[in-house]
Amino acid sequence: MRRTKIIATLGPATSTPPMLEALIQMGVNIFRFNMSHAPHDWVRAVAKSIREISARQGLEVALLLDTQGPAIRTGVVDRIYNLEVGDWVSFTVKGQRGTVQITTEANYPYLVDDIEVGNTVIVDNGNLRMQAIEKRENELVCKVLTSGPLGSRRHINLPGVDVKLPPLTEKDYLDLELAFECDMDFIAMSFVRRASDIELLRKLIVERKSPIRIIAKIEDQLAVKNLEEIIEACDGLMVARGDLGIEVPYEDLPIIQRRAINLCLAAIKPVIVATHLLESMITNPSPTRAEITDIANAVFEHADAIMLSGETTTGKYPLECVEIMDRISSRIEQGRTVGTYVNPVECKTSNQRMNAATVFLANESRCAGICVFTHSGKTARFIAGLRPQTAPVFAFTPNLDVCRNLSLHFGVRAHVIEFHNDPNENLLRMQSQLLSRGYVAKGDTIVVISDLVVGKDTLHAIHLHKL
Ligand code: PEP
Repeated sequence: MRRTKIIATLGPATSTPPMLEALIQMGVNIFRFNMSHAPHDWVRAVAKSIREISARQGLEVALLLDTQGPAIRTGVVDRIYNLEVGDWVSFTVKGQRGTVQITTEANYPYLVDDIEVGNTVIVDNGNLRMQAIEKRENELVCKVLTSGPLGSRRHINLPGVDVKLPPLTEKDYLDLELAFECDMDFIAMSFVRRASDIELLRKLIVERKSPIRIIAKIEDQLAVKNLEEIIEACDGLMVARGDLGIEVPYEDLPIIQRRAINLCLAAIKPVIVATHLLESMITNPSPTRAEITDIANAVFEHADAIMLSGETTTGKYPLECVEIMDRISSRIEQGRTVGTYVNPVECKTSNQRMNAATVFLANESRCAGICVFTHSGKTARFIAGLRPQTAPVFAFTPNLDVCRNLSLHFGVRAHVIEFHNDPNENLLRMQSQLLSRGYVAKGDTIVVISDLVVGKDTLHAIHLHKL
């Protein structure tokens, strides 16, 4: 049973009900809607389909809405310009007319103020690099350094600039309404730069009394600088390597990935490694050796989840990508568990110590799984965060939202059951679910953390349970 979770971004290649069904069967744990591209009606229809299919299959998958965030974009151009090295392009602001032939109005009024002559301007996810050569009134003139096409509304990256755009744009607020309407499980907040960005979104979620959890996307230098406070404020982190790889020197990217994962492990927060894990499979049927190793490294580093983007939105081989991620991560997990990794977290409460003791017992006994009964998901999240060496975590909860948001956490299989007043009855229900789903076999031993009836008393206990 694979324990690293797989997130698939949805797009034209993956939105039909048969394809969604196949992806769920293949092991996708979370579907992602990228609001930089997804129209609202399409999101509504696909989200509804996913809910129907997963209810029918008895496999709860989660939905994640990824905001566009405060991205700087070029304006509309009358046609696609094939730019050559040395061409001049002008970015205007505040309605200014450009003074060079190829001109586009950017959506960021401070563009000219924030950039120094000589700075690099990166357009269209790194496909075009330019250098600022002159500032004119409300106009930045750039020289093209790498050739490529310039179309409308292309993303502009300004490495190292503390962009003065609000953390949530008007479009983001509309998209967040859609997340509430569609009962999404996660919001991935793009271009988070500091903890207060997350607190702004948290306030909105609390006002709505929504159980949605916040994933902070780390995409620029400021986010890297403020990583600790961001991890503290969020419910999970995404190492969004697409933008991050443009915003920081690319040789720093693996170091930042490793540091982000280690900080999340220490804080018991789930962490996602995103973008380009199987990029070549957008067009090719099999992965490169480097991609295989990249996925393996994310698993070796103990990430909770790995994410597919273009591979499943417009790629030719979406199902194969999920299958390949499944194969590689399952294989690496098996090899890795021969080692003795234990997440060295300092437990601060008696509940946390109880959870650590549960993981210790599971590791020592090499049991078939850890069973957790949880209302809020907290116990399951903490146990998963401690990274049990071989045992999956079977979480049972009466709350469907909790069940779905546990989809992100390493090694957790969550199920909804009604809790009975009698803890022994809950044990029986748990046992029949585990056996009927084929997760364990009769005669296997599991570690259970639950209430137990002992005489007239109910005790919170950890015990080995033979099925
Ligand atoms: C990324 O930059 O890696 C990312 C996941 O964000 P987006 O796809 O929104 O650019």
